[in-house]
Amino acid sequence: MMLLEHDAKMLLAAAGLPVPAGRLVRRGDIAGLPALPLPQVLKVQVPVGGRGKAGGIRLVREAGDLATGLDELLGMEIKGHRVQACRLERAVDFVGEAYLSFTLDAGPGNIRLLLSAQGGVDVEDPSTRPHLLSAAVPADPEALRTAIDTLAERLPDGVRGAVTEAARSLVPLFFRYEALLLEINPLFIRADGSWVIGDTKLAVDENAFPRQRELAAIVRDNPDLYPEAALKLDQGYDYVPLDRDGDIGLVTTGAGLSMQLIDELVARGRRPFNFCDIRTGQFKGDPARLIQVLERIAAGPSIRSVLINFFAGHTDLGEIARLLIIALKSVPQLQAPITARMIGNGLDKARAIIAEAGNPVLIETDLERAIDLAIARAENAHA
Ligand code: GDP
Ligand code: MN
Repeated sequence: MMLLEHDAKMLLAAAGLPVPAGRLVRRGDIAGLPALPLPQVLKVQVPVGGRGKAGGIRLVREAGDLATGLDELLGMEIKGHRVQACRLERAVDFVGEAYLSFTLDAGPGNIRLLLSAQGGVDVEDPSTRPHLLSAAVPADPEALRTAIDTLAERLPDGVRGAVTEAARSLVPLFFRYEALLLEINPLFIRADGSWVIGDTKLAVDENAFPRQRELAAIVRDNPDLYPEAALKLDQGYDYVPLDRDGDIGLVTTGAGLSMQLIDELVARGRRPFNFCDIRTGQFKGDPARLIQVLERIAAGPSIRSVLINFFAGHTDLGEIARLLIIALKSVPQLQAPITARMIGNGLDKARAIIAEAGNPVLIETDLERAIDLAIARAENAHA
């Protein structure tokens, strides 16, 4: 997952790197803002690049610009992400914008090192991308430092020192946080040759969260900014929204099986609303996960059908059906027909429980037929 610029910059600042002073601003924080010296920049915090070109960065020249800027930016949608917060920081005066990044290349287990004297917003766009110096480096801090020195020899005199120093000072952070990507773009170069972190992309691996407590805490403390990751941390299950106008909601267990289901639906021209790996094996008698997922699906504006796929190994379908009925009762706003492919241990008990509840769920044991039914029911609902 991508950390927001603000959180990544806080980590860099804590490690002693030069980051412009700044803070995170949510709606409602505006009144209590301490005055930062002007000019400032206001930057939307969404986990994607290209915010500048998308209108998500504003210069605050005078105090009055702040409220207007925040009002315009908060709630905006940038590349499919609703803006919940902005970073307000001191604007930097610079003479150049350089670029540097380390990317973990998981296949060969290397780090891709990229450097350029010409960073800035044009790097994001393939048609305007400047030349980037590139090297594949073994995933080792000392090797990375050596590669930085070697590659930087090909940079122009004016920026070589700054880029080398900045890149070298980022090496320990890349390893400490087990990062997948650490990009600085722009690395602002000032008239006196010094450098400042302009923008940071730090992608981290959620699978490392059990030992990366600091990263996990960022997510846990800001569930509004990292809804998917926070849900996964707290609930121990995966849920990813796919298509806001999707018409089939999925309540599925097993990541591979769930992805396969999504592929099949897409291949048949449907628009799945979400990915889900609810991990039925870990319900432990609690319908909370089911309720949360059903609530999210119910909130989809175009939902016409819900497809459940529970493949029970050691889990008991009777128990799952019991929880499902409780969950459905607590999400009455979910009106779409529900088709459940259930197979395995306790199926007869599950059938009995669902029948007793008045058959709010249509059970089908064959996966292909369950998909057919869910699609047919979505189409009927459209008619
Ligand atoms: P991105 O578009 O999401 O990559 O956001 P960036 O933080 O990289 O900002 C995009 C561009 O906005 C930068 O390349 C700069 O040209 C400009 N910008 C950002 N911060 C400042 C600042 O403090 N001062 C000035 N003068 N320009 C800035
Ligand atoms: Mn940038």
